[in-house]
Parts: sequence; structure tokens; C-alpha cells
Amino acid sequence: MPFSNLHANFVVVAPRVEQAALKADARALHASGILQSITAELNELFVIPERIEILFAECGEANAFFSSDDAEITICIELIEDMQDSLLESYPDQKERDAIVEGALTGTLLHEVGHALVSVLELPITGREEDAVDQLSTWILIEAEMPESVLSGAEIYYLAEDSQDDETYAGEHSLNRQRYFNMVCWVYGSDSENNQHLLDEWKLPEARAEQCESEYELMRNSWATLLGDHIRD
Ligand SMILES: [Zn+2]
Repeated sequence: MPFSNLHANFVVVAPRVEQAALKADARALHASGILQSITAELNELFVIPERIEILFAECGEANAFFSSDDAEITICIELIEDMQDSLLESYPDQKERDAIVEGALTGTLLHEVGHALVSVLELPITGREEDAVDQLSTWILIEAEMPESVLSGAEIYYLAEDSQDDETYAGEHSLNRQRYFNMVCWVYGSDSENNQHLLDEWKLPEARAEQCESEYELMRNSWATLLGDHIRD
């Protein structure tokens, strides 16, 4: 095996922050170990041909992204702050907010890991890649018996306003509210018997709910096929 392949893995690296005010937050997030523990699981699950670094960074915007040029997944500190802020009103309790943000952050990281996998494994994808990697993230979390993390991410999307303009409609992502209903649908579809509460408490309409089991089965089979050769035995 060539030496470089020994290092072909997901690797968490130190945060990149300029502003003094964000440094403590970045250090605390890095030290929380959330990226490290997800990354350890990913490395047990996937064989990848490249080293991909994962880090918290100051971005000047609330975002997360994969860069194929830098082989790097960046989670912006501003995104975590934005998630916290969006929950303030509905969840005055800091502990509850932290739990939702942790679940949503896990989903966001897996979404970006999806972009990385599509790129380095040259996976064929039709339709919007953004929707496809939302499916990947959801599938991994559901199979890891962490559907509550999917729902935490969904909740953040529900609370995010969609601008009613062409730039939003023309964007590469589905609307926030659509991403919410997709995620709720897929959790429901993965185990409808134990998720009946998603119909009323989480507002999943009956007409969509009827399709969710077959939607989930199709995406599970599709991703298992796409990643079959890259999953460790
Ligand atoms: Zn994306």
C-alpha cells in the first residue's frame, strides 16, 4: 500500500479563527470532541482514497462547506451561533438548545461528508446533489439509531425563514421548509409504527406520509449500492 494511503482518512484539525472574540468558542467547540467522535465512526465505516480534513473556522457567514481543492470540510463557528440564536425563543433552556444544536451539527457534518464522498469517490448522482447528500446524512443517522439528530436538524430548518425571491427559488438547495419535511418524512418512513407522532406534532401531511416508507427504502438501497465498495466489512 502506498504510504499516502495510510493517511487517507477523515482527520479533525485545529480551528482556524482570526477574531479574538471567536477564539474561545472555537477552542471549546473543538475540545468538545464532537467532530472527533463522528470522524472516528466515519473512519471505521468508510474507505476513502484521500485525506480529508475537518475543522471549525471563522467564515464571516453562517455556513458549512466542502472544498475539493483543499480536501477540507469547514464548519463555520457562525453557523453554530446562528443555530443557537434561532432556538432562543422556543427553547429558553440552554441545555435543550445545546442538545438540538449538537444533533443538527452532526447532520450538517454528515451532509458535508456526503459532498466529500460524491467528489472523491466520483459517485454518480442525478437530481440535486444537495438533496442527495441530505438523504445520505439522514440514512447514516437513522442506521446509527440517531433519528433524533435528523429531527434536530429538521427543526432548525423549520425555524429558518425562506426568502420569497428568485435567488432563493433558483438556489441549489431545496427550501428550508422542504428540507424540514423531507427529513421528517424519511424518519417517519424508516419506522412509521414508532413515529406516528410526526404526523400531528411535526405536521407531516398525510399525502406525503403515505410515500415515506418507499422513499426511505429507495434512498437506503441507493446509497448502500453507491457506497457498497467503500464500506469496510
Ligand atoms: Zn450542501
